[in-house]
Amino acid sequence: MKTRILILFQIIVIVTFISCSMGLTNEEKTLINKGTANESFRVLLTTNAEDSLILRQKSQTIELTRDVGDLKLLIARMKVTLEAENGVGIAAPQVGILRNMFIIVRVDKPGMPVEAVINPVIVSHPDETVCFERDGCLSIPETSGNSMRYPWIEVEYFNENGEKIREKLSGHSRQDNFAAVIFQHEYDHLQGILFVDKLCN
Ligand SMILES: [Zn+2]
Repeated sequence: MKTRILILFQIIVIVTFISCSMGLTNEEKTLINKGTANESFRVLLTTNAEDSLILRQKSQTIELTRDVGDLKLLIARMKVTLEAENGVGIAAPQVGILRNMFIIVRVDKPGMPVEAVINPVIVSHPDETVCFERDGCLSIPETSGNSMRYPWIEVEYFNENGEKIREKLSGHSRQDNFAAVIFQHEYDHLQGILFVDKLCN
């Protein structure tokens, strides 16, 4: 009897773990499906106490083979949000979805397309850092400051078609190309880190 209860308990633990760590939660699905593909999300702000707690949390991995429709809608709505806010990047936690995903304007590519970055990893970077001028964040109203960044990074992630990408991003000049800085700023959001944690002179 004891063994049976123990096995049942283990099954419950395993099922709970799988449902938490893999697919999107029901709350996440509800939030994503609250609007259509051309409706923006509300952007979470550090000036709101509840929002700021969410913005400080670490995000979870996305299972690319699950919730494909919801993920597509999330990306579409984040693109609308980014355009409405006139930004160059926005991360999923900024719209209340604590998942490892962001979209960025590829200022380093012709036509500057907006691309989704899913489950990113920074695989290498130099030891040196640069002080990037006038960083800003859609979640921190009316604030800008210089932030410490790597001048280049080598990254791995999945694009919105599920293809694995490995590339080197460089560019840390606001006037010219600052693709590497945009990536680092958004990547930090997935760790609960904001640019105001990295200020420099
Ligand atoms: Zn930001």
